[in-house]
Amino acid sequence: MQIRLQYDDGVLADIGDIRRVEREITGMFSDPVVRRRLADDPYGAYQIDGRVNPMAIAREFVRKPVDVDALTLVLTGYDLAPPKLNYSYGATWKGVVSVVSTHRMGGSALKTAIVGLHELLHQIGLVGESQPQYDHRAGFDGHCRNRCLMRAVNGPSDMEAVVADWRRGIKLCGQCAGI
Ligand SMILES: [Zn+2]
Ligand SMILES: [Zn+2]
Repeated sequence: MQIRLQYDDGVLADIGDIRRVEREITGMFSDPVVRRRLADDPYGAYQIDGRVNPMAIAREFVRKPVDVDALTLVLTGYDLAPPKLNYSYGATWKGVVSVVSTHRMGGSALKTAIVGLHELLHQIGLVGESQPQYDHRAGFDGHCRNRCLMRAVNGPSDMEAVVADWRRGIKLCGQCAGI
């Protein structure tokens, strides 16, 4: 499988070097990563006050034929404003595309990579409702209830906890890693 990593210029302004993101993704997926810089502010047309509904980006991919041999991760510098939420670090349409914003990453390529991996793993089906680690609490659905990369990240304190765990080598829990 190939990981397609697409990014706009806002990402470069936010985190500088994209290669750290690429390295972390390769470290977990061990699949080839193909990087593509998107010229001419491709998502500018969707922005309202600097914020973009990630569904607007996803729609571009929904129309395309699905490539079963590739996963696409779109990074954008625009803040993500999904319906009914104040903001989101990332969003995924299963089997289609993942979108991650660098806007709230505080310049950190590592945070961007961690959220990117979380979203890519959603794209391939983590965490499914039939799996024992599935978190059934409202607002956490689709996530893991263990101390795990796939737990819900609902704000800066959750984000700091996941990053701190990552630095300690706590990434996927055994149940998620076994899938
Ligand atoms: Zn998630
Ligand atoms: Zn897990």
